Amino acid sequence: MNKMILLGAPGAGKGTQAEAISDKLGIPQISTGNMLREAVKNGTELGLKAKEAMDSGALVSDDIVIGILKDRIAEPDAANGFILDGFPRTVAQAEALDTMGVAIDVVMEIAVPDERICARMSGRRVCESCGASYHIEYKPTTVEGICDKCGGKTVQRVDDTPETVLSRLAVYQEKTAPLKDYYAKTGKLVTVEGQEEVADTTKLVFKALGVQD
Ligand code: ADP
Ligand code: ZN
Repeated sequence: MNKMILLGAPGAGKGTQAEAISDKLGIPQISTGNMLREAVKNGTELGLKAKEAMDSGALVSDDIVIGILKDRIAEPDAANGFILDGFPRTVAQAEALDTMGVAIDVVMEIAVPDERICARMSGRRVCESCGASYHIEYKPTTVEGICDKCGGKTVQRVDDTPETVLSRLAVYQEKTAPLKDYYAKTGKLVTVEGQEEVADTTKLVFKALGVQD
């Protein structure tokens, strides 16, 4: 049960639930979004290539993302499993995982209706140092603006503006939602309804995974 994929629209709560599963099972959360944001922040060559697509809400090219994912899952901490958060996002990326010989145990979709997504996004915050995710209403930091995990500063993402959120949702429906069928065919897909409260969703996630919470 240790190689997992989290699927879900932007803002569905993948990152937050991935953190909870990671803490519970002691396996790393692998977020391509966090890795790309880190690269942009550090101004690396990868970051420069990714920035424009990310800022506009488009996807970064499959080649780039598949490359960073492949390197990341080869690291020692991923040997006993991992939670993929934000990858795969296209059928080509899912096929690349298959080609790499990565045997996925479970694909969990966190389902949240589009209208709720838009309302939620404005309250979303992310730690600029460690990437941890927060929400001013549903998952506030203990001290306002300061990450509970590392003391870094929490900020609003540049791509969390209402217009960009709409394009990201459209991209999700077009490019990523087909992965539900892709994995339903393998019998690996489970769907959890995202709840208003983070803790309630986490309960359902653990239950679906057969993990005691
Ligand atoms: P969200 O949590 O809102 O879904 P992420 O943090 O996962 O957003 O990703 C932010 C941005 O990073 C995406 O809009 C996209 O530009 C890029 N990105 C992240 N993961 C991928 C991926 N697997 N393929 C292509 N682009 C990606
Ligand atoms: Zn932090």
